[in-house]
Amino acid sequence: MFAATQLPPTLKVAVLESNDRVGKKLLATGNGKCNLTNLDMNIVHYNKPNIVEDYLDRFDAHDTIAAFERMGLITKVIDKRVYPYSECASTVLDVLRRSMGRCGVHVLTGHFVNFIENFNDTFSVSGVLKHDDRPNEAFKYKCDYVVLATGSPATFGRDSGSLFTAFGHTEREMLPSLVPIRTDREPIKGLQGVRVKAGVRIGYRYEVGEVLFKDFGVSGIAVFNMSAELARGRAKVGDVMSIDFMPEYSKAEVEDILRRRDNGCSVGELLMGTFHSKVQERIIAAANCSPDDRATGRIGALSSAIKSFKLTIEGLGDPSLAQVMSGGLNPREFDDGLMSLKAKNAYAIGEALDIDGDCGGYNLQWAWSSAKAAATSIAKNAV
Ligand SMILES: Cc1cc2nc3c(=O)[nH]c(=O)nc-3n(C[C@H](O)[C@H](O)[C@H](O)COP(=O)(O)OP(=O)(O)OC[C@H]3O[C@@H](n4cnc5c(N)ncnc54)[C@H](O)[C@@H]3O)c2cc1C
Repeated sequence: MFAATQLPPTLKVAVLESNDRVGKKLLATGNGKCNLTNLDMNIVHYNKPNIVEDYLDRFDAHDTIAAFERMGLITKVIDKRVYPYSECASTVLDVLRRSMGRCGVHVLTGHFVNFIENFNDTFSVSGVLKHDDRPNEAFKYKCDYVVLATGSPATFGRDSGSLFTAFGHTEREMLPSLVPIRTDREPIKGLQGVRVKAGVRIGYRYEVGEVLFKDFGVSGIAVFNMSAELARGRAKVGDVMSIDFMPEYSKAEVEDILRRRDNGCSVGELLMGTFHSKVQERIIAAANCSPDDRATGRIGALSSAIKSFKLTIEGLGDPSLAQVMSGGLNPREFDDGLMSLKAKNAYAIGEALDIDGDCGGYNLQWAWSSAKAAATSIAKNAV
């Protein structure tokens, strides 16, 4: 949609969408608020920083804000994250749709594309048009340029990368990212639904943020970003993930706090008043203690369990719970305007390409930056 609004008005443009309306995923973004970009646009937030850098140099967060403001959207910034002023994702979709209308873009919903053919520099895009009240019918359109903006199977989506593998493109398997992590159940028994602010560590990566315990493992923004480590192959099933329940303090400081509180009391009394009661129970269990044990002599084990509460990774959550997929078409098989090196005038943008970012507006920024790059290239080639 954004690419369509950035094309010259002289071009006849159609958006083909398989759903009965456009922007279904956009409406779900940012918990319905749409975190459309981030003022901290550091390339380290992406799986392929060296590739993304060039596109962000050409179209960054400020360009996104300006482009959306030109469409009529007022934005606000919360902790560097950029949202529509309304904090409603539907406002972003509203301005995109109005802008497409003003640009004369034809929006064809219910059109599921299942084949793209390239013959004599013309594309033939065919598929099935779904009807509610009568049998489906086949459609076929001819066009000079085609832009694959089919996203990923994460929540509500599908993988349509095969439309381009038919041109000889290669695709890395799409794995759920920004998704809960499945872990062993025993250490987190009884914690389901408990939410804490904690540090999360997998390997060398450490992040402080919300952790939400589930019956199958852990969720929350800090965990989502850690899931990317698995999806990008930097961590694996069986690795240890550790939770730091007192991220503001070093281990020595935690020990010191506990020692100062130790007046000959029990382990249970020592920790009471610091943690959610269920978290306290699990910390005590992880330290191989029982609540009635005397605290003296157990402070080292307790502070280890507080600072490094260990869980064994069993896998990634389901794609239906994921915000993004890591994987997709190899971006190195496209030029710097994202035109295919295998099929002239065929472009791919957004999540269809093997680019994924952290939570915080990075994935939508990639969608806008890549869309702008493709639209600019088409505008240049179409002169
Ligand atoms: C719950 C959730 C919350 C998120 N929150 C944020 C956030 O706050 N900030 C952020 O930056 N990112 C967020 N993301 C990620 C972000 O939404 C995606 O990275 C982004 O939408 C990708 O844009 P896209 O245009 O590449 O694909 P999409 O937005 O997925 O759009 C692709 C469209 O193509 C259609 N399509 C697919 N195949 C076909 C076909 N064969 N024929 C016809 N149509 C087809 C799909 O139906 C879909 O409408 C979130 C994702 C989810 C699921």
